[in-house]
Amino acid sequence: MANLGTLYTVSAPSGAGKTSLVSALVKSNPEVCVSVSHTTRPMRPGEIDGVNYHFVDHATFEAMLERGEFLEHARVFSNLYGTSQQWVVDTLKQGIDVILEIDWQGAEQVRKLMPDTVSLFILPPSLACLRQRLTGRGQDDTAVIEARMSEAISEISHYVEADYLIINDDFTVALAQFQALITSQHIRRARQIERHSQLLTELLA
Ligand code: GDP
Ligand code: ADP
Ligand code: 5GP
Repeated sequence: MANLGTLYTVSAPSGAGKTSLVSALVKSNPEVCVSVSHTTRPMRPGEIDGVNYHFVDHATFEAMLERGEFLEHARVFSNLYGTSQQWVVDTLKQGIDVILEIDWQGAEQVRKLMPDTVSLFILPPSLACLRQRLTGRGQDDTAVIEARMSEAISEISHYVEADYLIINDDFTVALAQFQALITSQHIRRARQIERHSQLLTELLA
């Protein structure tokens, strides 16, 4: 289809910095959007409904699932998370790139449905650093942090399924690498042919 945006999945163990990296990237790239997931997880201090997530109760989530409204969904840390199918498809059709910040189970489902998806995995420089970031973020209590740390290694093991890997040690370096990935997809031949069709015709005339 003409002018289709690129779909990205970004996965990482909780606390690796995916939300910080994605937010910084989207700020300087107006043609890239991030999908707002639905979740049954309780809202953290400072989170805004409709901005960080669409916060819904269990019954609402199940009803949406039954109506087939999710492109993918998964249970992560005993909460349900899902991506709105319609928003993603409509946005891609407008030629806008879409980033899904989703766990590895969701990324696997999306890759099967949409094989052109570009998948990125973000890793922390060490497990000690991951713990520090989860603690430093100051938004989850100790039990939640421990649960996330104990899931971290199994989440990390799924880096092998991703197309691209970024180690988020120095934030500026990691962001530059993420930006390079987005730029490389923009100059793929198929997209450049669409964008510069008139120039290509003129050059060959
Ligand atoms: P954080 O990663 O520490 O900021 O914690 P979150 O509560 O924001 O996310 C928890 C997990 O759910 C992460 O692994 C996310 O990638 C995943 N997640 C968030 N939204 C979605 C979604 O729409 N679908 C899927 N499959 N996973 C999601
Ligand atoms: P995730 O979305 O993967 O759970 P966040 O983006 O919420 O991770 O980042 C977790 C914490 O680590 C936040 O407090 C964030 O400010 C911090 N952080 C992110 N990247 C870095 C980095 N490269 N160096 C130091 N701290 C970081
Ligand atoms: P948090 O609750 O800390 O915001 O997110 C925890 C995990 O859930 C993160 O790894 C995040 O990527 C994942 N997650 C968030 N939204 C979705 C979603 O819509 N689908 C899936 N599969 N995972 C999600």
